[in-house]
Amino acid sequence: MSRFKPEVEALAAYTMREGVFSVKVNQNEAPWDWPAEFKEEAVRLVEATAFHRYPPFDEAALTAALEDRWGLEPGSVLVGNGSNELLQALFLAALGPRRTVCLPSPSFALYGQLALLCGARALDVPMAPDLAYDPPAWRAAVRREAPEVLLLCSPNNPTGNCFPAGDLDALLDEAPGLVVVDEAYAEFSGEKSARRLLPRRENLVVLRTFSKAWAGAGLRLGYAMAVPSAAIQLRKALLPYNVSPLTAGLGALALGHAGWFEERVRRIVAERERLSAALRRLPGLAAYPSEANFLLVRLAGREAGQVHAELKARGVLVRDVSRYPMLEGCLRLSVGTPEENEAVVKALSEVLS
Ligand code: PMP
Repeated sequence: MSRFKPEVEALAAYTMREGVFSVKVNQNEAPWDWPAEFKEEAVRLVEATAFHRYPPFDEAALTAALEDRWGLEPGSVLVGNGSNELLQALFLAALGPRRTVCLPSPSFALYGQLALLCGARALDVPMAPDLAYDPPAWRAAVRREAPEVLLLCSPNNPTGNCFPAGDLDALLDEAPGLVVVDEAYAEFSGEKSARRLLPRRENLVVLRTFSKAWAGAGLRLGYAMAVPSAAIQLRKALLPYNVSPLTAGLGALALGHAGWFEERVRRIVAERERLSAALRRLPGLAAYPSEANFLLVRLAGREAGQVHAELKARGVLVRDVSRYPMLEGCLRLSVGTPEENEAVVKALSEVLS
């Protein structure tokens, strides 16, 4: 007897052990930590929190602040220990043996892993040859498979592009199951967001995170937006008290300083365009257009793993995505501070020349 499910034993664990680098642009994080004043507020929050009591059940202050921010009715927002936890809850609630999820390919590796853990059937819908979303392929998949869940990542990691808004409406009309849009990077796209279709769309769930635009990857905080009747179902798949009141308080603190974070997002977007122009001038490198805080580049005539290693030797850590479907020869790099971006361009130009 195998103690674990065969699909679990066959999985490669989702981990990373890369060491310490002077320029770390491998995880699409924000390059700046929160300012000292915000951290002082965080200390006061710790002091004011009772550790011996269970927190309230619904993290009311944070969910209300998010509903208010996006003009959603009460009961539309659920918070999670990172948006990944909400994704897991969604899959648990909607998927299982003989149930199907359609996933973009290439995309965030965790989707396929969670589908396998649920014992669900995962069907890849490939991007077009230029790596843009292929809406007709999605409509065909919906008609052919009638999936319980259809997942879009918009902007997509690691290709950086959004699912076209008009086509999303058509897909929502046709999809019999849930349409989940993971918008971990939407703040960098000028808020191209499916949330505007709520509350009209009962089969839509939008996922957001504090890990990227809110410089909070270390906090582990994300949220889901859906009509309240769908949020009630989703909540059943979350553990009680899944988000610590301290983390929820830090999220509310960040929302109280939204202007500061929005200004940082504008800087990242400006840097993305500058970095992308500089990279395009390098020999043997093509940069794909991006609406996120990272860039996907393809190297001509060079082995991506080798370039990745040579960049590491120069203190620059990027992500080697060359083994993803359709991404042979590709690396992904997050947009850093201006100084970090200079260092990335310099290191790449040395390695490629
Ligand atoms: N969705 C996508 C597409 C991502 O790339 C990432 C981060 N790598 C996440 C979600 C992360 O989610 P969180 O940190 O909110 O769990």
